[in-house]
Amino acid sequence: MNITKHILARKECYLPLVIPREDGKNIPTYITIHETSLGLEKQPAYKDAAYYIDLLEHPKGDPRYGYHFLCSDTQVWQFLPTWVRTAHSGSTEGNSSVGIERLVNVNIDFDKAIRNQARLTASIMSMYDIPINHVVPHKYWSGKECPARLLAGLYDWNWDRFISTVQDYYQQMDFFMDID
Ligand SMILES: [Zn+2]
Repeated sequence: MNITKHILARKECYLPLVIPREDGKNIPTYITIHETSLGLEKQPAYKDAAYYIDLLEHPKGDPRYGYHFLCSDTQVWQFLPTWVRTAHSGSTEGNSSVGIERLVNVNIDFDKAIRNQARLTASIMSMYDIPINHVVPHKYWSGKECPARLLAGLYDWNWDRFISTVQDYYQQMDFFMDID
């Protein structure tokens, strides 16, 4: 599977560096795991990738809103280079992490989408030498219940199983190779 590149032109979501560098690039030291929708109710089919891509291009709230990747069961999209800071965590430090969303709706195979998210996480750990204990849920930064289903232990998944799946991909060096 190749990553579908859909790099955002909106400059509002390119946040300044906390510690300025000459090259203007952030070196991420954390990866933050998200899930679309914070509640546990069923997500309708219209909340698909196109819906979330439109929200990224035309955010309804904070104009700095962004994240780097979206995973579904069959596709992975990249919206920002991994060295860009963007507002996805509710905290300054969290916004220096790479943000990976996962699509949830009635048409998405939860298991396959989680595996894509885990493989992508392992790939970014390898790129930036990020340790497994720096792979954190959105909740870690802001207390927001995200990724809600994973934290609630639905569909035979939970946070520990996700982390051990990331480690499996990492050890097998089964990575996405086309990450910016
Ligand atoms: Zn989140």
